[in-house]
Amino acid sequence: MPGGTRLIPISVVKTGPEEEELVLQVLRSGMLTQGPMVQRFEELCCEMTGARHAIAVNNGTTALVVALEALKLQPGDEVITSAFTFAATLNSILESGATARFADIDADDFNLNPAAAADLVTDRTRVLMPVHLFGQPCDLSGITQTAKKHGLALIEDAAQAHGATYNDTRVGTSVGQATFSFYATKNLQSGEGGVITTDDDALADCLRLLRNHGMKVRYQYEVTGHNYRLTDLAAAVAIPQFPRLANITSARTANASYFSNNLSGLPGVVTPVTRPDRTHAWHQYTLRITPECPTSRDEVLRRLNEAGIGAGVYYPRAVYDYACYRNHPRVVIGDNPIAERVATQVVSLPVHQHLTESERDQIVAAAHASVKA
Ligand SMILES: *Cc1c(COP(=O)(O)O)cnc(C)c1O
Repeated sequence: MPGGTRLIPISVVKTGPEEEELVLQVLRSGMLTQGPMVQRFEELCCEMTGARHAIAVNNGTTALVVALEALKLQPGDEVITSAFTFAATLNSILESGATARFADIDADDFNLNPAAAADLVTDRTRVLMPVHLFGQPCDLSGITQTAKKHGLALIEDAAQAHGATYNDTRVGTSVGQATFSFYATKNLQSGEGGVITTDDDALADCLRLLRNHGMKVRYQYEVTGHNYRLTDLAAAVAIPQFPRLANITSARTANASYFSNNLSGLPGVVTPVTRPDRTHAWHQYTLRITPECPTSRDEVLRRLNEAGIGAGVYYPRAVYDYACYRNHPRVVIGDNPIAERVATQVVSLPVHQHLTESERDQIVAAAHASVKA
């Protein structure tokens, strides 16, 4: 296929008549921001997670920024996060003024290794910020233990993990704060959008101040804040999707099982695992192409793309492995050999809920053909 036309994209953004209807309702209401749709969106986020509070903001990155700021960190305070994540996780730490350190991951589930995180704790550490990467919860009990032992705050970056569970508990209800993204390609989406969920009343109050210029009452500034408000237009796009989340997740799970059933056993190809105590939101279905595979990762990717499969690399390097971070005074880089190696091995296949059965078969056939010597 010349130019590698993508027949099957990695993500499909679809909105239907319910979203259109609600957006029109907002446009006609004259309440375009921080109005009743945002309130409804927050209620739905509480239902999704089981958390007492949900504070809507304009994206998943600002959700992380205010979650950090609500902890009133001092210069030099350190946040430990995963070496393998999207840049937003790291950018939010730097935006908040804190110092970032990185713990290595488990190659099997791509998530922060709790023992590696515990090893990095110093007297400057204030926050553990694990990521539920690709939609699978990290080892929350191991990480919570370390947080409790050292009196650290916990912020879960759940941007990719809407509705995922750990020990039968939905992510977003832990002892600290959790943040979700509603960016257009996430499992639930509002174009741009974000939310912080927490059970902590004082943190929730502070988060509400921070997103709206530090005001509880108009022109009474209590802290220096931001304008991180979500619009009612964006909330109206997301609202009709919440009742569909269970179906979205089960369609993604069925696609993931189909791929794993049909791709396991290929030489040097490692299919993703779901840990027994977790459910996976399957934001991404990510293979590892190891040195035992007769074809290199980059060649596998090229062939998939040429066959029209919108496969992609999430993520091509460890999160800090760019000059802008390597030269940053508040980025502290140690040894993360697993994250750095895994970044050279990953390939994600389209797994979204809009795949047809024939598209699934095309993806499987293209994957078989792409890994051949
Ligand atoms: C998408 C994402 C974010 C940021 O969310 P935005 O809404 O795009 O700002 C943060 N962390 C992870 C892991 C993400 O995937």
